[in-house]
Amino acid sequence: MNTQIIRHFILASVCAALFVIAPKLSAQSLLIENVTLIDGTGGAPVAGVSVLVDGGRFAKISAGNIDTPSDVSVVDGTGKFLMPGIIDSHIHLPGGRAGAGNREMVIDRPFGLQSLAAYLYSGVTAFYDSGNNAEYIYQMREDERAGHILSPRIYATVSLIAPPEGHGCCAGGTVVHDYEDGVKKLDALFKMKPDLLKFTRERRGMGPVGRNIPLLEQDLMNKLVAYAHENGIRTTVHVSEVALARDSIEAGADAFAHTVYLDDANMDFAKELVDNGIILSTTMTRIEADTSFLDDPLFVATIPEDARNEIRASERFNGSPYTGWLSSLRPAIMKNIKTLYDAGAILAAGTDRSLGPFPHQELRVIVESGIPPLEAIRIGTLNAAAYIGVEDEIGSIEVGKLADMLLLTADPSVDISNTMMIDSVYKGGVWIDRAALDVPANR
Ligand SMILES: [Zn+2]
Repeated sequence: MNTQIIRHFILASVCAALFVIAPKLSAQSLLIENVTLIDGTGGAPVAGVSVLVDGGRFAKISAGNIDTPSDVSVVDGTGKFLMPGIIDSHIHLPGGRAGAGNREMVIDRPFGLQSLAAYLYSGVTAFYDSGNNAEYIYQMREDERAGHILSPRIYATVSLIAPPEGHGCCAGGTVVHDYEDGVKKLDALFKMKPDLLKFTRERRGMGPVGRNIPLLEQDLMNKLVAYAHENGIRTTVHVSEVALARDSIEAGADAFAHTVYLDDANMDFAKELVDNGIILSTTMTRIEADTSFLDDPLFVATIPEDARNEIRASERFNGSPYTGWLSSLRPAIMKNIKTLYDAGAILAAGTDRSLGPFPHQELRVIVESGIPPLEAIRIGTLNAAAYIGVEDEIGSIEVGKLADMLLLTADPSVDISNTMMIDSVYKGGVWIDRAALDVPANR
């Protein structure tokens, strides 16, 4: 049990004596009083706010007290900070492709459930699965929406669209050969209701030694993106370089699953993104080559020691040429992100790392890139919701939205690392009992 959990127990005991304790796993009314609100829209923190949650949604937000019936559960927010639940706009939920090299479609559902627990424990209340074993992620999403499992809100492409032998083809991807084949396969996929359909457009692959891999024909991609739109489904594209990003804009893409890695994002390109309303998932922790963040308490609490050691020993971090390549990319990618931000492009926090606490590291790298913490918070909440296309439902603390929120013990607008100082996590107004979640800290 870590100190944060101990603190939570102490707090819970104090609250129990003074107030009605926060509700446990029921969407009854809840009032958080006298809290400093950071609503996720980028606005300055506001102190002394009361937030009323009813029926799982924000019902009233007031600068002072809110008169409520006596059966409302009250949480004293004095000295605490309330922000929206964090959203990761790019993961691949572990447990769907558990075979060697993540290419065998072996389902390990218990492992998946542990991953979901780590996300919730880390204050991540929603994510977009950017490509997985279709059968696995579809079922997880169904179970989450039916309330059968304890999980962040799951949104998914279900299966991404790739060319034969192209990027993403062979780890649960849907391979399309021509338009006729593509329409048939997209129709089948649409029955599984992708929330946002992902394509890949990558000719090098990631790594210090690029190798040429096939791309979808531009004309075919244009037609398939249009076909998705005709069916009311937005699209995101894996890109890593400017030329292919431009192809994707030409095809009518709505979002990019990464920022560009391999080129400088100059102002002309940034302006194209802005003019076309493209939202980019940042995925900068994907290029981290330094493991020091793995020792932060939240990472220790949620990732087993052997798994952390495995990460340290992986190519990304073990000092191999790949590590060196990532290290060399880091400053350029951070500069790209800042350029895009300055131009007014919409950035959405995403990690592509698929472990609960990683979005906190992503937010740190975003701030390190020169973006103010409050903007980073918007990038990690409201903008990430917009990337998925669910910004009317989640992503900010505004009346009418689902009450996904974090109560923090320290101010993240002063130090973005304070997003990790989690007192409580709520999904749809329901308090998540973090001490009961299946994570290493509780085992
Ligand atoms: Zn990915």
